[in-house]
Amino acid sequence: MNVTIDRMDCVSCGACWNTCPDLFEQNPCDSLSQITEPFRFCGDRAEGNVPDNLFPCSRDAMELCPVHIITITRDASEKM
Ligand code: SF4
Repeated sequence: MNVTIDRMDCVSCGACWNTCPDLFEQNPCDSLSQITEPFRFCGDRAEGNVPDNLFPCSRDAMELCPVHIITITRDASEKM
């Protein structure tokens, strides 16, 4: 599945990286959320190619994000 973060609207609340630390982390320079290195799509900090076993915590993070900037898709056309 594909996970994206609209990083420019992140408020650094920590909900995503506290809920799903395997996939989300805080960038030490700009303090915004980013995808952890192993799951980045082509090195993109804002987009991840994520195994299905991380779906439950990814979904929890998406639901907890106060500014609704985390998106999960099965493919490019399907938003979950
Ligand atoms: S939950 Fe949303 S606002 Fe909070 S740190 Fe993660 S991406 Fe940013």
